[in-house]
Amino acid sequence: MEGARRQGLLKERGVVLRRVDTPEGNRRVYLFLAHQGPLWASAPGAARGKVRFGGSTEPMVWGIMHLYRGPNRFYLRDVDVRKDFWSLRARPGAMRRAIEWIRTVSLVLLPMHPCDELLPILYWSLCSLEDEAVPGVVAEWRFFWKWLGVWGLAPDLARCGFCGVQETQSWVLSEEGLFCGSCSSGKGGIRLDKATVADLRRAAFSPRAAFLAWARTAAFDEKTWNLCNERLKRSILSGM
Ligand SMILES: [Zn+2]
Repeated sequence: MEGARRQGLLKERGVVLRRVDTPEGNRRVYLFLAHQGPLWASAPGAARGKVRFGGSTEPMVWGIMHLYRGPNRFYLRDVDVRKDFWSLRARPGAMRRAIEWIRTVSLVLLPMHPCDELLPILYWSLCSLEDEAVPGVVAEWRFFWKWLGVWGLAPDLARCGFCGVQETQSWVLSEEGLFCGSCSSGKGGIRLDKATVADLRRAAFSPRAAFLAWARTAAFDEKTWNLCNERLKRSILSGM
């Protein structure tokens, strides 16, 4: 340990990643906070209901978290809820995906290591998922790609990772990156046509408003996009 941590009150933006209730009616929450990263906090009595927390300690609730830092643990005192993503809970498919994202974040990030760039990416990705007109599979690609971008591990989608060509008829997305048809012969990976690569680029690179406008109306091959998402997720899991 690097010496005693400062005690006292703490107020940070963040999101609830997990909650665990004990039979005694106490609750522990795993929070992902700005400037702090993920950390466990105790919310004594919260699991008994009635107390002040209400639904504000449910996973995916965003807000300003008020904590007290004791000598060897954090206590959650209050949550100013800013957004609870409640509408996701009414849509099983979107909810499953959101839970999986949250699970991946809590699995991969190191406790007490700030990762401030990922917080807004997660927030805005959940907003995209909440938009019923945006296919979840496309919101997920954008989320994973931007996450890997924070780590400097996102595959370069602009050109072939070997010869650098920017436009060609067929592509392969492999563990090593994106390659044009001529550079990828004999290599494993996901075969993609020109139009799909153009869409993957659009989903990854477009500013948010343009991304939403396009994603709400375009048609997608869910199966291919899922394969691409799994490929990015493997990079996230191995980049931990
Ligand atoms: Zn090439």
